Amino acid sequence: MSAEVQQTGPIARVVVDVALDREFDYIVPEELQGQVKVGSMVLVPFGPRKTEGFVLGFREKSEFARLKALSGLAHAEPLLLPELLDLARWMAEYYCSPIEHAVRTVLPASVRQRGASFRKQLHIRPGANAENETELKALRKRAPKQAAALDILMSGQEMLVSDLVRAAKVPHASLRSMEQKGLVRIEEGTRERDPLKGMTFLKTEALPLNGEQAEALEGIQATLDSGEHRVHLLHGVTGSGKTEVYLQALQHVLDQGKGAIVLVPEISLTPQTVERFRGRFGEGMAVLHSHLSDGERHDEWHRVRRGEARIVVGARSALFAPVRNLGMIVVDEEHEGTYKQEESPRYHARDMAVMRGHREKLCILLGSATPSVETLVNVQNGKYAMHRLLNRADDRQLPVMKVVDMRHQKHEGRPVLFSNDLVEGIRLRLNRAEQTILFLNRRGYSNHVCCPDCGHIPECPDCDVVLTYHRRLGYLRCHFCGHAEPVPPECPVCTKQDWTFVGSGTEKLENTLNKLFPQAKIRRMDSDSMTSKLAYQTVLGQFRRGEIDLLIGTQMIAKGLHFPNVTLVGVVNADSTLNMPDFRAGERAVQLFTQVAGRAGRGDVAGEVILQTYTPTHPAVQAARRGDFDVFIDEEIEGRRMLGYPPFKRMIVVHIRGEDVRKVEELALKLQRALHQAITHPGVDLTEAMPSPVPRIQKRYRYQIVIRSSQVKVVTRPLRAILQHLAPPKSLQVHIDVDALNLM
Ligand code: ADP
Ligand code: ZN
Repeated sequence: MSAEVQQTGPIARVVVDVALDREFDYIVPEELQGQVKVGSMVLVPFGPRKTEGFVLGFREKSEFARLKALSGLAHAEPLLLPELLDLARWMAEYYCSPIEHAVRTVLPASVRQRGASFRKQLHIRPGANAENETELKALRKRAPKQAAALDILMSGQEMLVSDLVRAAKVPHASLRSMEQKGLVRIEEGTRERDPLKGMTFLKTEALPLNGEQAEALEGIQATLDSGEHRVHLLHGVTGSGKTEVYLQALQHVLDQGKGAIVLVPEISLTPQTVERFRGRFGEGMAVLHSHLSDGERHDEWHRVRRGEARIVVGARSALFAPVRNLGMIVVDEEHEGTYKQEESPRYHARDMAVMRGHREKLCILLGSATPSVETLVNVQNGKYAMHRLLNRADDRQLPVMKVVDMRHQKHEGRPVLFSNDLVEGIRLRLNRAEQTILFLNRRGYSNHVCCPDCGHIPECPDCDVVLTYHRRLGYLRCHFCGHAEPVPPECPVCTKQDWTFVGSGTEKLENTLNKLFPQAKIRRMDSDSMTSKLAYQTVLGQFRRGEIDLLIGTQMIAKGLHFPNVTLVGVVNADSTLNMPDFRAGERAVQLFTQVAGRAGRGDVAGEVILQTYTPTHPAVQAARRGDFDVFIDEEIEGRRMLGYPPFKRMIVVHIRGEDVRKVEELALKLQRALHQAITHPGVDLTEAMPSPVPRIQKRYRYQIVIRSSQVKVVTRPLRAILQHLAPPKSLQVHIDVDALNLM
């Protein structure tokens, strides 16, 4: 758990290129001491041969006996830029992660492991028997996991074997046995080394800015010219021309002879987004994101390191791109929760961007239509400069939002899925050949199944959650661990042969709409139907070309997409977002509704938004309806200030997990008591050790301790010392989540 960092030491932690996810200890021989540094590429004996490895850190002792010694240094200079190494150290310290994890984060695997650039990639496609009913039936019965893998594959047609292994949680060997039955085909694929190959880009010129944009750009340029660190927030409604301001600020950075990084949420990193940057900056731009193959990532990274690409656009980890002479970092949609990494180091890319900016004296540009409370508090404090863009750049009207009270929408006394307004709204769009987007926060067909006699609800055997019904697959599925099983023919408790289907998901929406509008072309976009990058891009392409009338989806469709012909957006069940058990639920709901609404009316015809809810008076609903984001957020900020919630206090969550519930509880209690004693600083609140909201996932029990403190260090320092002292056994895991966004 220790994040103590050493420059050099007697034992080096090395990641070796043949073993992807493990580190090995090697003795640093005397003649190499002082020369081997964190980030150095070294030669190591590995089994019978010598190979290359990468030094991630140093230690005094090793738990392994009989260590071998490093045999040499492959490059005199470490591959890691010194400022990135420093940042990794800071990150390890602040987020309580081992330095090894932090170094892994700032140096992509494809760069650390030279062999990676030559690795072959296997593609998988449905085979000749993929639609053979007899084979399928047999498979569903004998190997439901393999059947589920095939379902995933069928919805996207082609993907990387490694992606399917991950998505379906089936071992590679199972896929090979499916291959023998003709269910799938596996082939070695050629790799496209340039992720943008085959795409043409129209060169675009800077647009003349409107008054608001010009004022914002002036402020940003002043910071760039001063060479000082300053954070600017560009708070502008969707379509207000924030991206155009980014582009012109980036041009200014290039004119200064410097480089820049642009972070966007993974989900917004569409060809459309890339095109806008490529159109302005051409070859001088690199893209880094998780869909790149190892080879592509390797090449892009080195293009940046050599200074051939001076602008990097990418998701979270692009923050650590080795841009030479960095001048600015842009964080688009800064309020997005996906900037927080869910595994160690649990860093927030926006916060780390600000930290990198502070250390390297950079201009940091945050942009959003719905900024986070954290950022707005920094504006109120005078720490950040804010620029407002109140109007759409193209002078188009913001859409009108209508709130429909679902308590009054019943059919024969029973609740309905669609209000009359929404049905009529869709019909109107179909008649006018305009497009509609429907948003629902829940995938699957129904939320769960329930026995009408005894009330039994099937749960996941490995997690404490109810199973979701997916009709097309005829399965119950766990949305936490992926477990899937056929719907049992009878209730296992009372043997009744009937199930009630409770709640609605995107799949049911699709079904119902197909019945209501048989002539319409309807597609669903959620993580069930979109399992590959290809499927996602295909549907987006079809939608853009008008080959789809109605797009149904989860979060996936709420962000950043720009379709001029969409004139109606429906939020089917606002309550599923409002009722999250989290102090950020209100903030997230307003952000989501505002973002979803921003998808409507981006063309010549004004847009309409219909929001269905059982709680029409909820302040978040009202704020979204009036477009009154500011008033809602001001009240939210006051509430958090009074109650001592983030950002007024920092939140640190300690998670304790393991398969033996007694041991988990015991360690959690011990830890809590020790913390209670050790933290003497006033203004720290510590909860009892308690089971997490989902008390068991994948067979592992989960306890947590939630800590709120005005400073992080006064908690993490003693916490780390206690953990080192308690030295929990390997069967128990303790994770520390600093500035936690998610309490699950
Ligand atoms: P945002 O990033 O705030 O959502 P965009 O930058 O995507 O907004 O701008 C929305 C639309 O307005 C785009 O089609 C863009 O080309 C156009 N636009 C932006 N700035 C201007 C401007 N100054 N003059 C004319 N059109 C503009
Ligand atoms: Zn499960």
